[in-house]
Amino acid sequence: MVELRNIRKSYGTLEVLKGIDLSVERGRIVSIIGPSGSGKSTLLRSVNMLEEVSAGEIWLDGTQVNQPLSGRAFERHINGIRQAMGMVFQQFNLFPHLTVHQNIMIGPMRLKGLSKDAARQRADELLAKVGLTGKGGSYPNRLSGGQKQRVAIARALAMQPKVMLFDEATSALDPELVDEVNLVMKQLAGEHMTMLIVTHEMRFAAEVSDHVLFMDGGVVVEQGTPDRVLANPTEDRTRAFLRKHL
Ligand code: ADP
Ligand code: MG
Repeated sequence: MVELRNIRKSYGTLEVLKGIDLSVERGRIVSIIGPSGSGKSTLLRSVNMLEEVSAGEIWLDGTQVNQPLSGRAFERHINGIRQAMGMVFQQFNLFPHLTVHQNIMIGPMRLKGLSKDAARQRADELLAKVGLTGKGGSYPNRLSGGQKQRVAIARALAMQPKVMLFDEATSALDPELVDEVNLVMKQLAGEHMTMLIVTHEMRFAAEVSDHVLFMDGGVVVEQGTPDRVLANPTEDRTRAFLRKHL
């Protein structure tokens, strides 16, 4: 479903991704772990075209994501890619002036041509799924962090993406709110949503992932099953990281 081939990315003279390869099969959950500054967010943002890579290829379900297009063709391409991938950020990024319903309905109405009624019905189904039935009329500032993040997940799902990308979705939350968001992510995993998850929660990564990738300094140091990477790491850098984070 997602394939990265020798991805490189520099900001000026600083190379932050130094040749990353990654394959995510349909329905699989891949977690990316690693120290702050190792390039995890840059990698995820590159997959979604929020960053332009310096070299390499990114593929989504048979379509090359990074293509040398311009003008209208580029706009069409980027819109298609963004619709196919739902992204959830650390900082929620809900529209503060829109209600929960409007936050979820706006994408499907503007980009997918759904009628207001159909978008509303889809929003209500998704709110039920993330445990927020009845919250559609609320504004984001009346919600807890955990509720906001669940709305953000519902909003992304409303576009019926092929892949969900999560960038430390729980790291801005108070500890007691982490579980309710993790639970929704586990539920998606159970429904075989393809997911690429950047997380600092090793226990969650161990529970939910098919494959774990440890990054440091812009390279993949070690990857494999959670049991391999988290329970039996072979690289010193992975061991040192896990000693601090387990
Ligand atoms: P992580 O998510 O693993 O903490 P990031 O991908 O955010 O790492 O950052 C990787 C490196 O790239 C860091 O050294 C960071 O300072 C640098 N970086 C990230 N975004 C930018 C940017 N827009 N301009 C310049 N440097 C950046
Ligand atoms: Mg990051």
